[in-house]
Amino acid sequence: MDFDLLRFAAGYPYNLDFDYGALSQLQHFSINNLGDPFIESNYGVHSRQFEVGVLDWFARLWEIERDEYWGYITNCGTEGNLHGILMGREVFPDGILYASRESHYSVFKAARMYRMECVKVDCLTSGEIDCSDLKKQLLANKDKPAILNVNIGTTVKGAVDDLDLVIKTLEENGFPQDRFYIHCDGALFGLMMPFVKRAPKVSFKKPIGSVSVSGHKFVGCPMPCGVQLTRMSHIKVLSSNVEYLASRDATIMGSRNGHAPIFLWYTLNKKGYKGFQKEVQKCLRNAHYLKDKLRDAGISAMLNELSSTVVFERPHDEEFVRRWQLACQGNIAHVVVMPNVTIEKLDGFLEELAEKRKLWYKGSGGDGVAPSPPCVAVDIGSENCDCGLHK
Ligand SMILES: *Cc1c(COP(=O)(O)O)cnc(C)c1O
Repeated sequence: MDFDLLRFAAGYPYNLDFDYGALSQLQHFSINNLGDPFIESNYGVHSRQFEVGVLDWFARLWEIERDEYWGYITNCGTEGNLHGILMGREVFPDGILYASRESHYSVFKAARMYRMECVKVDCLTSGEIDCSDLKKQLLANKDKPAILNVNIGTTVKGAVDDLDLVIKTLEENGFPQDRFYIHCDGALFGLMMPFVKRAPKVSFKKPIGSVSVSGHKFVGCPMPCGVQLTRMSHIKVLSSNVEYLASRDATIMGSRNGHAPIFLWYTLNKKGYKGFQKEVQKCLRNAHYLKDKLRDAGISAMLNELSSTVVFERPHDEEFVRRWQLACQGNIAHVVVMPNVTIEKLDGFLEELAEKRKLWYKGSGGDGVAPSPPCVAVDIGSENCDCGLHK
């Protein structure tokens, strides 16, 4: 493994700013949280107390009482989506899944795995779900219940779907609360949003069915993991008892990583609300810095108001993309500003990008033969596009 890469990684939303030295002894143990976190199983070496501690922390954050929620530590954000969408399908076996086009691919994977009818809903330029298209699609399928995936931070643009508007759209178009199920995919931003001023709130006081978040993204866990929370009333629909485990089977996976809950618990308690708030503010500040500097340099760029994901024109050179580990889609690339992405690192990135662009686009605009910066108006709006046509 090339540890040097860690100095550069900017494109994927992993908080690499961690120190878990205190937990190094744990590697000597095989820890397995097989089965339901709330029921003792016969396998002895587990970390259920930590798992439940972490779940309680998130239950407080997302406002649901201890005896009203159920949840578990998953192996990743994808598993949370698989669980949340399965829950929706079990509650409404004939329901249709609605998800915006910019939803994570795991949502469409779930639809395929469960053979669910899936309707892709259009997005606004920001990447948010377009509720006028949602309305149209709902009205065309009025006879079937609706299962919705709502994005709390899309993967590419960091767009936050307007949960309140989604609920309003459902209720105004013939879908009262007993005819819809909402899963919130908060993989990326689920733990950042609560600490952003003016951000809409994810809360079980609203009619949502489940929320998931990745533990290795903003939280900064050194191994992939995630948190999935749902309502106790829903889980009863899904679970069956397994004699072999002396436990209840309500998870997607069987064996589960028992180290992850301890690392999560350690981080949550070490950082606390205050710590996360500070980190979120730093990320948003640095993201604005990056976006402003890109625009100052005449480079197309967009930053959603509630996000730390800066979207910009795809660099011309794949070597540059690899070196900075940028994630690209079509003509756009992004940098996800995590706590480990400092101003110094951004300055280095900006400087190198500006220099390289001079080479890539040398003589462009003159003879019409040299390459010119791509037009990204359809991706991020003409007001954010700095191509020859739109600047
Ligand atoms: C990363 C991501 C996922 C998947 O999470 P993994 O932990 O990589 O499985 C799901 N949804 C969104 C919006 C994401 O950004």
